[in-house]
Amino acid sequence: MSARVLVVEDDPDIGPSLVHALRVQGYDSALAPDAATAQRLVAEQPPDLVLLDLGLPDLDGVELCRRLRAALPSAVLVVLTARDSEIDVVIGLDAGADDYLIKPFRLTELLARLRAHLRRRPPAAGSAQVSIGHVLLDLAARRCFVDSSEVALRPKELDLLSLLMSEAGSAVSRDRLMAEVWDEHWTGSTKTLDMHVSSLRRKLHEAGEDAERIATVRGFGYRYERELSPLPR
Ligand code: CA
Repeated sequence: MSARVLVVEDDPDIGPSLVHALRVQGYDSALAPDAATAQRLVAEQPPDLVLLDLGLPDLDGVELCRRLRAALPSAVLVVLTARDSEIDVVIGLDAGADDYLIKPFRLTELLARLRAHLRRRPPAAGSAQVSIGHVLLDLAARRCFVDSSEVALRPKELDLLSLLMSEAGSAVSRDRLMAEVWDEHWTGSTKTLDMHVSSLRRKLHEAGEDAERIATVRGFGYRYERELSPLPR
């Protein structure tokens, strides 16, 4: 079955041609030229991935992003924007986006990102559960618990946590995180990685895990701490 992609874009020069290009690639794509149509289509036929332009005629794109995330907890939300300044808001402040593309973008780049996002990730080999500190990660069910309360993680946050926890105690390089969680041919900015790490850190911390659990390894990447230092930092 082909993946269902909803394109939310009011620009008549972009929306229809994007939908057409996606159909040519085998996606089941639909166009919503405004937020009202997007919400109706999402309710009728939930998409696997949404490409969301932030500048819409009838509703603030960030607000729509938030609503789509609430309605579609496991779909991939990719924001399209001409304004770099909006990225922190949509990804960092939990409007729920998984990724973004700055306009103008190349179709080949967009398609590469879509393939990476829609690739089904098999559960990690070996133990189906990893438990360190207060966090329990159920890899097969793709659920995360802190002190037995479930924490809602976005798909990429869960993939990131899964890789960091499976390598706990060792530093994992930014390149490897980008390659394994996003795409092996990633060429874009690694800001997406940092945004996801800070959002993951915040969610785990709010649920009761130590904020130091995911350590930044300067100039290299991140490390999931198996033991936390008893010394104050
Ligand atoms: Ca627009």
